Parts: sequence; C-alpha cells; structure tokens
Amino acid sequence: MIIGAPKEIAPGEARVALTPASATQLQKLGYECIVQSGAGEAARFSDADYEAAGVKVVKTAATLWKTADIVVKVRGPEAKEVKSIREGQTVISMFWPAQNGDMLKELADKGANVIAMDMVPRISRAQKMDALSSMANIAGYRAVIEAGNNFGRFFTGQITAAGKVPPAKVLVVGAGVAGLAAIGTATSLGAITYAFDVRPEVAEQIESMGAEFVFLDFDEEQTDGAETGGYAAPSSPEFREKQLEKFRELAPEIDIVITTALIPGRDAPKLWLEDMVAAMKPGSVVVDLAAEKGGNCDLTVEGEIVESANGVKVIGYTDFPSRMATQSSTLYATNIRHMMDDLTPEKDGQININMEDDVIRGATAAHAGAVTFPPPPPKTK
Ligand code: NAD
Repeated sequence: MIIGAPKEIAPGEARVALTPASATQLQKLGYECIVQSGAGEAARFSDADYEAAGVKVVKTAATLWKTADIVVKVRGPEAKEVKSIREGQTVISMFWPAQNGDMLKELADKGANVIAMDMVPRISRAQKMDALSSMANIAGYRAVIEAGNNFGRFFTGQITAAGKVPPAKVLVVGAGVAGLAAIGTATSLGAITYAFDVRPEVAEQIESMGAEFVFLDFDEEQTDGAETGGYAAPSSPEFREKQLEKFRELAPEIDIVITTALIPGRDAPKLWLEDMVAAMKPGSVVVDLAAEKGGNCDLTVEGEIVESANGVKVIGYTDFPSRMATQSSTLYATNIRHMMDDLTPEKDGQININMEDDVIRGATAAHAGAVTFPPPPPKTK
C-alpha cells in the first residue's frame, strides 16, 4: 500500500506528518511512501531529502490524495480535502472527533477510515504514539523561550562586576505534560520556579523538576479537582476562590506566568485575572498556553501578544509546536510511524485496523462505513 503526506493547508502550519527518517521506517514495514512537493519545506525537509530516502515526490495535492491508500496529516482534513477522500482510504491525523462530528459522519458514510492521533489512549503501551504529549512537551518548552524573548532580564541570578542580578521568578499554572516541560525549561535556565495544579498527585513531579509546589490552605486539601482518568475536573467555587486568593498574593513578585490549565471538553478556566496582571511589575510576561480554548488569562487574545496598561505582555500564540517545526514534525512523524507499526502486524505493507486492540480501537473514529467514536474505555493500562 502507499502512504502519502500532503502539504498542510491550514494557514501558518509548518509541520509535516512524514519525514525522510519516518519514511525509511515505513518502507521497512512494506509500504511505498509519497509526499507532495514542498510538504516538508517549512520544517526544513526538502524534496531532495525525501527522494534520497526513497520517497516519491508528487507535484499536486490532487495526485497525492488520488494515489495514497493511507494519507497522513498533522491537522484534520479541511472541507476541500474531504472531497478527495474515497472509500477504503485511511486518514491518520489529529482529528478532534468530539468537535468534528459532521465531518466524521461524512467520512464514515464514504467508507473511509479515520484514525485520530488525539484519541490515542494515554496508557503506558501507547506512549510511543502519544502525539498530544509530544506536542505538549514542545509547547511547554517553547512557551518559556517565547517568555524569555519578551522579558527584559535574565532568568538566572548573577553576581557581576556591574552589579547583582536577582533570578527571575516563574509561576507555572497547570502541571500536565506542557506545564512540566515549562518547569523543566525554566529551572534549567536558572529561574526560581513555582507551580500549581488542582491535582495534588503532581506535587512530586513538580518538585522533582526543581520547582516548588504551591499548596493551598484549604480544608479539604488540594484534592478538589477530582480526577477523571488522570485529567482535572472543574473546581468548586470555594476552591477556586482560595486559588485566586493565592495567585493575587503571588502576582506582585512573579516575573513570568505560564498557564496551561485545561479541563477536557470545556473552555479553559480563567485563573490569571485582570487585577493580577495589573499587580505584576512592568516588563513581566504571561504566556497563555490555553489560548486556543479561550485562555486562562483575562487579557489573552488568541494568536497575538498584547501589552497591558502597566506594561505586562500577554502572549496568546496557539502555534507553539509549529514554531519548532523540524522538532515537532520529527516527533509527530515518529508517533505516526509507531502507530503504523501496530497497524501492520505482518510487516507486509497492508494496514490491519484490528478493533480488538485497545490502542487502535481507541484512536479509530470511523471504520468500515461506521462512526466508531467514542470508543469504549481501554481494558489495559
Ligand atoms: P491537560 O492539558 O488536559 O491539562 C493541563 C493541566 O491543567 C493538568 O495537569 C490539569 O490538572 C491542570 N488544571 C486543570 N484545571 C486547573 C486549575 N483550575 N488550576 C490549575 N491547574 C489546572 O493535561 P495533560 O498534559 O494532557 O495531562 C493530563 C493527565 O494525563 C496527566 O495526569 C498526565 O500525567 C496524564 N498523561 C498520561 C500519559 C500516559 O500514561 N501515557 C501520557 C500523557 C499524560
């Protein structure tokens, strides 16, 4: 069978789902690989690089969609791509099936298979295919780099002949994959880092990354963000009040805030409010990694940097992984390659969507003419 990667058509998307290195591995599984000319350019993979790895370069998206049995993408298909999808074809991409039900139904009706990389169950066995984690890791790292780029001081403290420089103080709100990556990056640059999460079980991880866990003085302890499969649930009004009170206390001394707080299926909770921004020192920076889901900060504008009246920059970019397109394409293409490994048990270049396999079942949103989302919970860990 033929696996193909078209050029991403979403504005500003620089990633690509197939790299020369992943194509080499896919060929070992028995597949032929094709790529649309220029698909890897923004991630610095040239047509010549692909050709050197045995990948056929085709001129147009139309030819690619017509030729490939399996199309791999970063973003879910757009309407004009959906038109090209045919019966029996498999599309592997981020898909967000809960938000794209109509498109999913249309593809299922056509008899196409949809494998949603964002639906890979977060169980140990599937970590190598966990594109959400690999992209969140990059976003957390890049958030600190963007903060540094907009911050007028060092992260690390220094004693120099020209004077003593205090270390920057960084607060990370939400210690999931992106938050932990941000903590690791900020501490490795020498900042004093604090982190908060509603899930108390992350305290140990926060501390092992070199940050201080912000505890709340709350009767029921920091267990109020009850977990659902490792994810946070909305907090009670009392807990939220305590949390905001703590943030108000911290705001005047924090130089950089990185917010990553998300609750699956909901708008991002508002946690860094206008008065907290107003209490920060001029030159401070807020990076809101939840901007795409409405933002954790009151002042966030999706996709932009805004400056508050008191000179605090609030960064609402939503394309952090794409800003490191070579790295993110490499990791994403590897996630897909691992998915293909499991989808090709005989290594014979034939895809086998085994709905008895927990991981494949979890990620498969349309199969053999039917919508297969939502999946049952995985049986294994
Ligand atoms: P996420 O992106 O859904 O949320 C980011 C963080 O925000 C979470 O840590 C959440 O607890 C926190 N948050 C939510 N509301 C908050 C609030 N009001 N205040 C402060 N923080 C708040 O999370 P994620 O990075 O996708 O990770 C979710 C879980 O999945 C974690 O437990 C993670 O360890 C787990 N996980 C497991 C695997 C695996 O086993 N393969 C892989 C990746 C992640």
